[in-house]
Amino acid sequence: MKTEQLGFAGMPERLFVCTPSKLATFEDCPRRYRYSYVDRPTPAKGPPWAHNSLGASVHTALKNWYALSAERRAASALPTLLKATWVREGYRDVDQERATYRRALAWLEGYVASLDGADEPLGVERVVATKTAVLAFNGRADRIDGRRGPAGPEAVIVDYKTGRGGLDADDARGSRALALYAFAAERVFRRPCRRVELHHLPTGTVASHEHTEQSLARHVARAEDTARDIVAAEKAVAAGADPDAEFPVRPGSLCSWCDFKKSCPAGAAAPTKEPWAAVESNGA
Ligand code: SF4
Repeated sequence: MKTEQLGFAGMPERLFVCTPSKLATFEDCPRRYRYSYVDRPTPAKGPPWAHNSLGASVHTALKNWYALSAERRAASALPTLLKATWVREGYRDVDQERATYRRALAWLEGYVASLDGADEPLGVERVVATKTAVLAFNGRADRIDGRRGPAGPEAVIVDYKTGRGGLDADDARGSRALALYAFAAERVFRRPCRRVELHHLPTGTVASHEHTEQSLARHVARAEDTARDIVAAEKAVAAGADPDAEFPVRPGSLCSWCDFKKSCPAGAAAPTKEPWAAVESNGA
């Protein structure tokens, strides 16, 4: 088959099935990848993070806002939507949670004021999937817009961000996930998909990048390299190699935010963050 590559023994290798987050986990820290996807039972994780609850709540509210009929897509719908699917885990106390809810609602109100409720995106929380010679990729894009470009209809990848950091064009350009979504969306929707956008709700700003065929191909090639590294490490372990050596730790600032900090020998050295630390420093 065209989508299979030949292994050393002439046998077809299976495609590596992955999402952007699976690839990113390995690139950030191979040990974290092993804890997340290889070791069973999964090592003990820390408690849920409030910033993840906040991000999930805002994403779901926007998804459900688009599920309303176009004439009902107004800011007045947001409190009910946000309340209905608000995730409560990780906050210090009810006061902090309430303050965060109010802040999230204000972000959403400001954001939908910038949207045309009559626009129907090509997809909302839409799974796009495609294959290369090495990868069977699938991922859920926050939103895929259909827009008119200079040469006709285009697809645009939109990713919502709720973290405190400001984002710029380099973040959009460098995002492997956005590039892979664009690569897949172009094939799924059969129209060019080169523009990727990070919509930062706390500041109401958009960081964007226009990919080229070449820049998307570079991202795909790097994703394939990562997939090969993962497969090689998994095969080595299956053949008896030391899992700690094949999936080395990569200590750094991410350790403080790592779910497996308590299970990882390298995590002990990193400062411990309270589950609500990120939302607290964001003003709650
Ligand atoms: S604590 Fe640090 S080194 Fe250990 S798995 Fe997590 S990110 Fe990797």
